This record gives sequence, C-alpha cells and structure tokens, in this order.
Amino acid sequence: MQTNILWFRKNLRLHDNPALLRASESSERLICVFVYDEVIHYEQHGVQSLGPYRANFLWESLVALRGALQKLGNELIILKGDAADVLKDLVTQTNAKKIFAPHECGYCEQLQETAVKKFCELEIVDGATLLDINTLPSEPASLPNSYILFRRMIETNWDEQPWSVPACCDTPTKLPPQPESITIQGLEENPVSDSRTSSDRAVMQFNGGEEAALSRLSAYMWSGNAFENYKETRNQLLGEDYSSKLSPWLANGCLSPRHVYHEVRRFEKEKLENESTRWLVCQLLWRDYYHFASYKHGGDLFLGGGMRGQSCSKKEISISQTEKIQNWCNAKTGQRFVDANMTELLETGYMSNRGRQSVALYLVRDLGQDWRLGASWFEHYLLDFEPCNNYGNWNFQAGIGHDIRKANGFKIESEANRHDPEGTYQNYWLGSVS
Ligand SMILES: Cc1cc2nc3c(=O)[nH]c(=O)nc-3n(C[C@H](O)[C@H](O)[C@H](O)COP(=O)(O)OP(=O)(O)OC[C@H]3O[C@@H](n4cnc5c(N)ncnc54)[C@H](O)[C@@H]3O)c2cc1C
Repeated sequence: MQTNILWFRKNLRLHDNPALLRASESSERLICVFVYDEVIHYEQHGVQSLGPYRANFLWESLVALRGALQKLGNELIILKGDAADVLKDLVTQTNAKKIFAPHECGYCEQLQETAVKKFCELEIVDGATLLDINTLPSEPASLPNSYILFRRMIETNWDEQPWSVPACCDTPTKLPPQPESITIQGLEENPVSDSRTSSDRAVMQFNGGEEAALSRLSAYMWSGNAFENYKETRNQLLGEDYSSKLSPWLANGCLSPRHVYHEVRRFEKEKLENESTRWLVCQLLWRDYYHFASYKHGGDLFLGGGMRGQSCSKKEISISQTEKIQNWCNAKTGQRFVDANMTELLETGYMSNRGRQSVALYLVRDLGQDWRLGASWFEHYLLDFEPCNNYGNWNFQAGIGHDIRKANGFKIESEANRHDPEGTYQNYWLGSVS
C-alpha cells in the first residue's frame, strides 16, 4: 500500500490546490504535514523573521486547514525544525515513497527542495502563481527583466496563449486516510509565544484560514461597489475597501491567485469590466513578476546589490546600528506621514501600498540607511510578508531592481500632501497636532 507525504507550504487551503489534488489521487495512505522551519523562523540583521501578527495569522490558518482536512478524512501534523530533517525522519518512520509539495519561487525554498530530493522522491506541483511556471512564453531565466516588458509579453492575446491562466482545479471531496500505525505527535499550540491580533484601529481584522479568505474576496468583489472603483481608491490610506486587502491570505496560500483571477473575469462578464477590474489583474501580475524574478535571481534578491547584482559592501549590518534606523522602526522619525504609517505597521501588521513605498523611499533616500534593514523589519511585522514580494519591492524602491524607480523628485512632504492633504490619516494614528 503506497504511503505518501503532502508537504504543505504556502498553500494552506483546499480550493484550487493542485498539490493536494495530485497527492490525494496518487496515494493510498497520505500524511499531511506542515513544518515550522528555518525559512519561516530565523534571525537576520538582529531581527526575528516571524513577528507577532503573522505568527498568529499563520497559526489560525493551520488550525483552519487541520479542521478542513479532518472533514475529508485526514489530519494535519504540524511539526517544527529544519524541514529536510523533519521530512527525512517522517519518511523513515512511515516508509513513505514520495513527497508532494507546491511549487515555491523563493531562494531558500529552492534550497530546501534540493535537500529533500537527496533522500526521497519529491514531486513539485505548480499552483502558487497566476501563470503556470511550466507554460511560460520562455524559461523563467529568459523572461524579460523589466515588469513592463514582462506584462506586455504575457498579455498579448493572453487568452489564446499556452500561458493563459489555468482553470482552477477540483477540490477533493475525500482524502486517503493516514497510515493506521502513525504515532507522530504534532504541535497542538502555537509555537510562537509572542503572537497577537491587530489592534482595533486596524483597517480590518484579518483572520487566518481559507474560509475567511473566501469571505473577504466575496465581500470586496460582490457587496457594494468597492471593486469597480479600485483604480481610483487604491492609493488611499484609511478604511477596509480602498484596496482588496487579500494579501495576507494570498501570501499564506489560504487563497488561490487563480481563483481571484477567475472571479475577476466572472465579475467582468456578470457586472462590469473597467480599468479597475483590469488593474487588479495587473497587481496579480506584479506578484507573478516578483515570484519569477526571485526564481531567476535566487539569493541575489537578498544581497545589498539586489537582483541587478550591483557591487555592495560585505559588512555585517544590524537593526540596532544607528539611531536613524531605530527611529524609523519605532515610528519616531518626527516626520508625521512616515511615523503614522510605521505606527499602523507596529499596531496592526498592515500598511497600504502607498505607505510602504513612501516609508521605504524615506528610509533609503532621506535617512540613507541600508534597504535590507527596512526589508527585515517589514518581514517581521507584515501580516502579508512573502519573500519574493517583499524583497522584490524593496529592490525596486532602493533602485537596485531592473525597473528603475523614478524617484529623483521624491519628497516625503509632497507624498503626504498628495495622499493625506487634510492630515486625516496622520491624525488617526498620531493624534492631531495641538
Ligand atoms: C516596500 C514594499 C514591500 C512590500 N512587501 C510585500 C509583501 O511582503 N507581501 C505582499 O504581498 N506584498 C508586498 N508589497 C506589495 C503591496 O504593497 C501589497 O501587496 C499590498 O499593499 C497589499 O494590499 P492589498 O491586498 O489590499 O493589495 P491590492 O492593491 O488589492 O492588490 C491585490 C494583490 O495584488 C498583489 N500586489 C499588489 N501590489 C503588489 C506589488 N507591488 N508587488 C507584488 N504584488 C502586489 C498582492 O498579492 C495583493 O494582495 C510590498 C510593497 C512595497 C512597496
């Protein structure tokens, strides 16, 4: 009787989960496992990678997934340790023949796969991005470096191309059971002690798990008219509906990007097609672009010289190295627009895209600090942290990505005046200036 392992990573859902479907169709006995591993939990530049909001969101997502798998006749075993070591032990103990796992574009995730392949057959199944990495117009290594060119290449007669967005796959209605003899005891409690939810002042409460993800998607798209105005509102700073707020669920794989895409297309057929509906798809393509760029550039994404491989100092850097970086992190720069955004991040784990761009540029240009410190701080605090998106966007803001950031005229005061002319956002987070 063939026993296999399904290694859950950033695919914490049942819907449109090709790795789950493949594993369930190919196994007589199936062990579903998630590992709190060295990619999720480590220290960099003096900052712990997994901060309190994401730790809470991740745990909620795992508990929700476990409940969903139990309804289908299986279970989720949650373990902690080096992923390859943990999986190796599991293979030895259960005599499993094969491991199934979703495709991941991150560099460290690629290294994990290489380590796992040394002791077991590993089948990597596509499904984390809008486009299927196996049917791109060219090998990932030959994709255009610039987003504009990438998007142009993808979108030309898109629906008729082999790289059109695949249909969502079926959700299994039943799963093969675990092996009867299995005795492995998984974690029953969140292993991260500093784990908490956002404050009440957050744009919205983000609950982990697939059900919450689908419910947010449905509310944003189909109730009210937020979605049809997305292009006009997306640079705002306050409130639940100026943007989709899907990022924490997309980042943890509680929501399939392809499901979002097909919902956009359904919305366009049944309700309205406009610039806003097209713009959301463009954002999902940014997400794909950074995933494929990460796959292509590997570890360079995390180095000071970024994906263009510019030369940079090899000196160790630390979050506690200057007062300037400390003030930026703790929302104490004295620049109210920056401090308001950083306060939102500290209290909630979320910050708007506009806010992220402004505080990143301010750190790099005005304070002259190393972008990697900002990226690590974001990694710790962001609910939606995802390595390709975070480090890709920081590369771009720091001017070391392939698309050159036109930020010569950047002035933080102008940003504040343009996006928060009455100071409403700043007053909301910092109180009004008396
Ligand atoms: C310095 C910096 C760091 C960032 N770090 C992250 C991160 O760790 N994780 C993350 O998901 N996003 C990151 N972003 C991108 C973006 O800010 C967030 O995806 C967005 O603000 C999330 O809110 P939303 O879901 O309402 O987005 P919406 O505007 O509603 O967009 C829908 C989805 O498209 C994707 N998307 C939107 N903008 C981008 C973008 N610029 N790059 C890649 N994907 C995008 C996201 O998955 C998002 O959920 C970062 C941006 C900057 C400037």
